[in-house]
Amino acid sequence: METKYTLAEQWPLITEISRKKEIFWENPIYGKIMEAPQDFELTLEDIREADARLRRFAPFIKQAFDETVKDEGINESPLLPAERLQAHLEKEFHRIIKGSCFIKADNALTVSGSVKARGGIYEVLKYAEELAVNEGLIGLDGDYSLFSSETFKTFFSDYTIICGSTGNLGLSIGIISAALGFKVTIHMSSDAKQWKKDLLREHGAEVVEHEDDYSKAVDVGRQAAISDRNSYFVDDENSKPLFTGYAVAALRLQKQLDEAGITVDEEHPLYVYLPCGVGSAPGGISFGLKKVYGQHVHPVFAEPVAAPSMLLGVMTGRHNALSVRDIGLDNITIADGLAVGRPSKFIGKLMENQIHSFYTVADEQLYRLLAMTYDTEGVKAEPSAAASFMGPLRTAVEEGGATHVLWCTGGSMVPEEVWQSDYQQGKI
Ligand SMILES: *Cc1c(COP(=O)(O)O)cnc(C)c1O
Repeated sequence: METKYTLAEQWPLITEISRKKEIFWENPIYGKIMEAPQDFELTLEDIREADARLRRFAPFIKQAFDETVKDEGINESPLLPAERLQAHLEKEFHRIIKGSCFIKADNALTVSGSVKARGGIYEVLKYAEELAVNEGLIGLDGDYSLFSSETFKTFFSDYTIICGSTGNLGLSIGIISAALGFKVTIHMSSDAKQWKKDLLREHGAEVVEHEDDYSKAVDVGRQAAISDRNSYFVDDENSKPLFTGYAVAALRLQKQLDEAGITVDEEHPLYVYLPCGVGSAPGGISFGLKKVYGQHVHPVFAEPVAAPSMLLGVMTGRHNALSVRDIGLDNITIADGLAVGRPSKFIGKLMENQIHSFYTVADEQLYRLLAMTYDTEGVKAEPSAAASFMGPLRTAVEEGGATHVLWCTGGSMVPEEVWQSDYQQGKI
């Protein structure tokens, strides 16, 4: 454990973190201009283009997934006022929360019921569009409901989509790939929940289970894709399309805040609490929000006490060179979607100066938060998503005009008996 002690000398908080204490860490380089320029450029215009791509595909989505008909094939989650949850949190934790809380209910996203429906689905659609356009099957102004025709499905059946996942990314990629006619192989880490594997197999995906953790599952998937020309690997650790798909959430949230009459400016800062695994989803959403709101939005990342990989990476500047195991943590948590021992280096380097702060949450607390949120707001979160609900208590913001968005990243696909068991845990 030499690393652990050397690291703790430089960053004393690491001692607390390695003992699985719940911590809050304000990022000292937040808002600073970093010396090393990024080779990755993504503009607001690129994010708008991604949004336009999703709109092109709306006729296909509508045809392929009945539950998307009511929103015309546009998959977006509601922004819900959360006054009752806010009051309950204040009472339970004996602390006033200044400003107003909202839940961004990505648990209610259609097709795959989690934040992964943003990036995962987007990346597969983008790839499908490229293949179809190159093949001359369609033009960008064509009728995209054709993507559900037999001609397209037969064409896509020669291609395999591969990804490594703790569960939800696999679900989103598996379901959308199968709907387009792709073959699909998902490499699942040992943390992945049984019901997620079962559901994927029902959709016709091949599920490969790994005894190792998530990083290993991603590696195996990446290698498998390299050896096959007709394979496409969705790389959760490095993917730009995935990141861009997540960033679209910013445009959608902006519209919802506008519609709700919520101002975001100097006196009315926006705090967004995002559960973080490898960093893609919270990183992409934060990136988009920074493009939209600049210094008036403050992204805050939440991780389980057993897997604070992004926190460790950003704090030490070592990113994916460090694993939570290096400080004696086991990466075992009920928050399966966040059970990532090593963060994405791409996201860490790109976002390190744009994340306001980090906090960690213990598993018992996740269960409690999940139960509270259901009891007060009727929102069904999965344990990973519940990490966001602790946010406003941790940042202890002073501005009365602040808006807090608690990003509920998943939950609606959790089977009833699993949900009941999680909920009961939270009531003890
Ligand atoms: C994957 C996931 C996250 C975090 O996304 P990353 O891209 O891994 O950081 C948060 N919540 C849920 C429910 C997830 O499935």
